[in-house]
Amino acid sequence: MTKLRLAIVGAGPAGIYAADILLKAERSFDVSIDLFDHLPAPYGLVRYGVAPDHPRIKGIITALRDVLDRGDIRIFGNVRFGTDLTLDDLKQHYNAVIFATGAVHDAELRIPGIDAEGSYGAADFVSWYDGHPDYPREWPLDAREVAVIGNGNVALDVARILAKHADDLLPTEIPANVYAGLKASPVTDVHVFGRRGPTSVKFTPLELRELGELRDVDMIVYDEDFDYDEHAQASVAGNKQIMVIDRVLQSWRARETGAASRRLHLHFYAKPTEVVTDASGRVSALRYERTRPDGQGGVVGTGEIRETPVQALYRAVGYFGSPLPGVPFDEKHGVIPNHEGQVINPDNNEQVYGVYATGWIKRGPVGLIGHTKSDAMETVEHLINDVGNWWTPAAPAEEAIVELLESRGIRYTNLDGWHALDEHEIALGAPEGRARIKVVDRDEMVRVSRRE
Ligand SMILES: Cc1cc2nc3c(=O)[nH]c(=O)nc-3n(C[C@H](O)[C@H](O)[C@H](O)COP(=O)(O)OP(=O)(O)OC[C@H]3O[C@@H](n4cnc5c(N)ncnc54)[C@H](O)[C@@H]3O)c2cc1C
Repeated sequence: MTKLRLAIVGAGPAGIYAADILLKAERSFDVSIDLFDHLPAPYGLVRYGVAPDHPRIKGIITALRDVLDRGDIRIFGNVRFGTDLTLDDLKQHYNAVIFATGAVHDAELRIPGIDAEGSYGAADFVSWYDGHPDYPREWPLDAREVAVIGNGNVALDVARILAKHADDLLPTEIPANVYAGLKASPVTDVHVFGRRGPTSVKFTPLELRELGELRDVDMIVYDEDFDYDEHAQASVAGNKQIMVIDRVLQSWRARETGAASRRLHLHFYAKPTEVVTDASGRVSALRYERTRPDGQGGVVGTGEIRETPVQALYRAVGYFGSPLPGVPFDEKHGVIPNHEGQVINPDNNEQVYGVYATGWIKRGPVGLIGHTKSDAMETVEHLINDVGNWWTPAAPAEEAIVELLESRGIRYTNLDGWHALDEHEIALGAPEGRARIKVVDRDEMVRVSRRE
């Protein structure tokens, strides 16, 4: 019987779902799957993107963990594709590879001053507060007034974490250095800016409503943003999600404010045009143009320029995928070019046999964790049907890849290692009555995982 030796690169939800779906799929061949990730722990953005005060979503880790705990997928953590392993290595050892490497970097926002001191990408900040091992431990939280640019859920995450009192984050899994940094923050005002109106936002009702429940934080919305045109009125009437968002915003308009020590402002119809800096080159204000509805759901500039003083600025304008050595890459969209997960050579539009993509690196950085499941189904279906076009590896034995990693001195982690790290983090949290405290240092993660 034919056997599919499959490598999956990326142990986020997309990679784990792809493995699970393939193992459960109807097929005429055996499967043996190795899952690689450059981080010592699995789960991708569920561990290092989803906000720590969203325990219900973090809980998806339990479902992903159940898949791994079945024991029919080998995982190799702390192995980076492109440096520790190449495409040629994979061709030597496997019949095919699925790339599920996601998108971890901030998309660009090209306005003057965006590179000033005090101007940050949301993805970097998220990586800091979620304890990603490859980001600095220290984060400069010295601004009283902060701007967040963007109207998606990541902008709301960043604004919420900045505005929330650190003690209210303590029951979560935030690392000790993150608690200390947030505790010392002098922030009083967080301003969120969106180019379009309240009925065109990309955030979801649940995430918006949550802002109104923050202790000692006033929600500030501005009456001038609620003069809806016909298009906006139709959106509210015709779309349940927008209706709920509108209801939440309207309730804040009616709320008494003034008693809280912190404020979270939502500015709509505000198109950022420049990050203003002081004499030392530090962020001192956000300059933006007031926009107005164009009648078709978009906006046009009014020419009116405004400025809000801020000492720090975060751009939350989307994520962007990174190229992988030897694998085609679409520079414009930050994805691996593909047809339903079959990777395509962009020069001739022909399929690159044996190479597949799934998740955010396939589709771009939009959508929830659940969407990576349907992605994986589509990709796996093609992989199964392409049986005649797989690679023919010279060294398909399961031990061969282990020998290769060991010959290169790569300190890989495995499923047992994840259990060790998981137990260690839970034990760290126990004396303080917390569910877990994350280990942030990569070497320490590897040491604990390898039980050294
Ligand atoms: C800030 C933020 C908050 C979010 N909150 C929510 C939420 O509340 N609810 C929700 O449903 N969705 C949320 N999402 C979306 C969700 O995280 C994504 O839909 C999902 O994680 C995408 O899965 P993925 O597996 O494609 O990518 P990822 O989760 O990014 O996983 C990719 C994996 O590939 C690995 N990798 C990358 N490059 C290499 C390489 N060269 N070699 C080896 N391994 C590599 C990475 O280490 C990572 O583990 C959020 C996203 C962000 C950014």
